[in-house]
Amino acid sequence: MNAPLQGHTVSKPATAAQALLSVDNVSLEYRTPQRVVRATHQVSFEIDPADRFVLLGPSGCGKSTLLKAAAGFIQPVEGEIRLQGQRVEAPGPDRIVVFQEFDQLPPWKTVKQNVMFPLLASRTLKRKDAEERALHYLEKVGLAAFADAYPHTLSGGMKARVAIARALAMQPKILLMDEPFAALDALTRRKMQEELLLLWEEVRFTLLFVTHSIEEALVVGNRILLLSPHPGRVRAEVHSHQYDLHSLGGVEFQASARRIHRLLFDEGEAAQTERELDFTDIRIAY
Ligand code: ADP
Ligand code: MG
Repeated sequence: MNAPLQGHTVSKPATAAQALLSVDNVSLEYRTPQRVVRATHQVSFEIDPADRFVLLGPSGCGKSTLLKAAAGFIQPVEGEIRLQGQRVEAPGPDRIVVFQEFDQLPPWKTVKQNVMFPLLASRTLKRKDAEERALHYLEKVGLAAFADAYPHTLSGGMKARVAIARALAMQPKILLMDEPFAALDALTRRKMQEELLLLWEEVRFTLLFVTHSIEEALVVGNRILLLSPHPGRVRAEVHSHQYDLHSLGGVEFQASARRIHRLLFDEGEAAQTERELDFTDIRIAY
């Protein structure tokens, strides 16, 4: 747990239980000349170090908007987001985002140059150290042999791995992933989920992961925040650390998936659902 630096004040007293990222009663809006779109309404959650925290909800419920707010691209109209007690006001190298579009990799740079680029652009490391760091993370994602390849020669799954290596190489306090595997075919997607979990076992990074797939949420997350349809409000938080890819298709896994589906979509029946649930560690929000 990170103690505050001496001589620094933090906006909240730092206790042993201080969250890494706190999202506190956050409402987010888009303002166009014609109208105001409320994307999320008074959403709160806390992410602890080494959590694999998933935001799950139907399309348009404000998942991407929440992720962008955590990254510092959007400011809440209500509430506050804090990273280790410090208010998030702008993007920073301590929060790195991996998006769905892997063609975000500039095609004129090799794989290694792509991974080095943010390290150099942010002046985090000098060239030689950046190269070493890039190779280290490329090895972790199994792409050491492709360091000098160009992105167009890689499969979708390999591009996804480059994007993950590039993000991890920055050694952010939290890695933010917005439906990173949604564009991949089903088998590659499953493989990437597995690799992400293996990588987490090894590196123990903190992850905020957005998906609209219940199955993916159960596999990837240790905690899942369920959001209502537009505008997104917190429906419930579910602990899902007991599941991984080996649980897929299992009876318990299927039952959890069905219960989550009910929590997400049975409007007004949350109270009844709560009685039916045998999650011991579920918190229902209204
Ligand atoms: P999700 O990622 O859960 O699918 P988003 O966060 O992308 O949802 O969007 C939440 C809501 O905000 C949606 O109703 C969407 O139409 C709206 N929205 C998203 N981006 C913009 C924008 N740039 N301008 C106006 N409205 C937007
Ligand atoms: Mg989205």
